Amino acid sequence: MKRELICIVCPMGCHCSIEVDATAPKGYTFSGLTCKRGEDYAIKEITEPTRMLTSTIRIEGARLPRLPVRTSSAIPKERIYECMGMINALRVTGPVSMGQVLIKDLFGTGVNLIASRSL
Ligand code: SF4
Repeated sequence: MKRELICIVCPMGCHCSIEVDATAPKGYTFSGLTCKRGEDYAIKEITEPTRMLTSTIRIEGARLPRLPVRTSSAIPKERIYECMGMINALRVTGPVSMGQVLIKDLFGTGVNLIASRSL
């Protein structure tokens, strides 16, 4: 099965395709990619896609009403909507420090939800 992708590793945004090929060195054939990082991305995208998640949450007792947050590293793509539900339900009270863990070990992945700034 051939999958068409757009590599999101760098701003070049190469349009590419990947196809399972047991005779190829890595088990896949590629087209449209211009570097090895793109090959690694394409393999991961069809085997276990992940994404960094950034958003904001409501904060009380701070000079702004919303606190920017992000995951400390990428989480499984299929958990994004579930994670957004957790983020939407989350309320914190200031002060909060940049990097402070707000939700620990999302879905048992070892990835935390952290504050992106102090507020
Ligand atoms: S294949 Fe390489 S150059 Fe192209 S978008 Fe991906 S990382 Fe950038």
